[in-house]
Amino acid sequence: MPAIAEVRSTNASHSAPRGRDLPTCAVCADSMVAAETSAFLSDNVISYLWTCDTCGYGFVTKHAVKRLACN
Ligand SMILES: [Zn+2]
Repeated sequence: MPAIAEVRSTNASHSAPRGRDLPTCAVCADSMVAAETSAFLSDNVISYLWTCDTCGYGFVTKHAVKRLACN
C-alpha cells in the first residue's frame, strides 16, 4: 500500500527569484514573462528574443552560460 504523503521541501522561507532575472520592456516598462525564442550564438552564449505583450516592442538579450562537461 502506498504511503499517501506529500513530500515537500521545508525551505518555505526561500522564495522563488521571480522577476529577478527577467528583463523589462524599454518602452512601457512592463516585465517580460517568457522569451519568445532562444538561440545559441556560440558554445556558451545564448540569446533570447523577447517581445512585449503590451506594446509589441521586441529586443534580444545575451547570456553567457557555462559549458557543462558531462564526460
Ligand atoms: Zn512594452
